[in-house]
Amino acid sequence: MKITFAGAAKTVTGSRHIVQLWDNTKILLDCGMYQGMGKDTHALNSEDFADPLSVSAILLSHAHIDHSGLIPKFVKDGFTGPIFCTEATHALCEIMLRDSAYIQEADVNYSNKRHQREGDAAYEPLYGFLDVEQALNQFVIVKENEKTAITNGIKATFIPNGHILGSAAIYLDIDEISEKHTLLYTADIGRYDATLMRNPERPPQADYVICESTYGDRLHDHTIDAEQELLNAVLHTLGEKKGKLIIPAFSLGRTQELVFALNKLDLHGLLPDVKIFVDSPLAIDATDIMRRYSHLLNREVSRFKKGTRHDPFGFKKLIYVKEQKYSRRINDLDEPCIIISASGMADAGRVKHHIYHGIEKAKNTILFVGYAEPSSLAGRLQRGDKIVTIYGDERKVNAEIKYIKSLSAHADYSEMLRYLEGNNSGKVKRLFLVHGEEEVAEHFKKHLKENGYHNVHIPDKNMTFTS
Ligand SMILES: [Zn+2]
Repeated sequence: MKITFAGAAKTVTGSRHIVQLWDNTKILLDCGMYQGMGKDTHALNSEDFADPLSVSAILLSHAHIDHSGLIPKFVKDGFTGPIFCTEATHALCEIMLRDSAYIQEADVNYSNKRHQREGDAAYEPLYGFLDVEQALNQFVIVKENEKTAITNGIKATFIPNGHILGSAAIYLDIDEISEKHTLLYTADIGRYDATLMRNPERPPQADYVICESTYGDRLHDHTIDAEQELLNAVLHTLGEKKGKLIIPAFSLGRTQELVFALNKLDLHGLLPDVKIFVDSPLAIDATDIMRRYSHLLNREVSRFKKGTRHDPFGFKKLIYVKEQKYSRRINDLDEPCIIISASGMADAGRVKHHIYHGIEKAKNTILFVGYAEPSSLAGRLQRGDKIVTIYGDERKVNAEIKYIKSLSAHADYSEMLRYLEGNNSGKVKRLFLVHGEEEVAEHFKKHLKENGYHNVHIPDKNMTFTS
């Protein structure tokens, strides 16, 4: 067996790993896009990392674009095989991938206007709507925790891992005639006692592990503290400063967590009488899917649904904004309010124009609640840049910049170690750390070694391991 780390090697985004058997059968674990890598993003996503005709199947861990976003490109380039994932992941991919095609079209049009002015070559979108529809036709739904035959010699079990709706770790039973192996791909590991999601389910012992390491150097505060921190930010910005609280958030997962947290705070009479906007058409669609699959969410959600408010994602103060013209009107609104808008890294989407209009006013706060690539707009603001360029204009950072770490959808290092506890560390032949910046992965590697994992590797991009 060979494993090639074709992406998310020493980076967080761009997850794609190739597993190859002795007879050259190849499968792909995730087919994700790079995000927030500045000028390099388009080039990284245009690379040919595997011959689509040589790959038998894609196994998809979850719907986030950094894991699923290049599937339509792979199909456009000739991949005709099945794409295995859970039912909820499929439902979410329908909206996520269509949205991704839409964003690319808009981005390419915008960049090409600039390129034309500067005399540079025009960009092509990575794929279009027809490629997305074709890709969606190739999806095959698997049941969680059931062993499914993928190709000759490979069976896969999708084990829910608590990261987002539908997300799963992928456990492979590989039969190479001469040798048998088991491989666990953790994908993105969720948190324990999270706001919406159930705890990750413990995977069985594996010979080889490909593990994420996003927050391998961190211990999060407890989620209850996160709600308190959110409330503090609301009261400080809206109550004391009379400003706007702008929260860049991923449309899928983080937005619904924030809405549910605000709903609970409001139910307890803790929120001031203000408007709360969720300004993202994708978040609206994702929320509908979360409602449809709410039976997969945790016990707190089911308890809430039985209470006086039946909808965890809807309450009186909350306004979902679909149309662009209403989104623009929020900028003109001169009253304290909360704006939750995508994208989480603030590099694209409507939140960018809210930041553009709000960043020079000290009464406003920009509150980050998730991971950001260091070179993205969110990353630059978090590291304390005093001037940032948005839409080609320099803007002074007068608004307060805050960060709630504990709202993350990714486990911290103690939670990741807990997740791996089902393994006897001495029996794991190799453990590969992906989906993390190099320094962070190094930090996690130390913790793993202290816990008896002896062969821990942080592969470079395109490195191949042979068993
Ligand atoms: Zn994810």
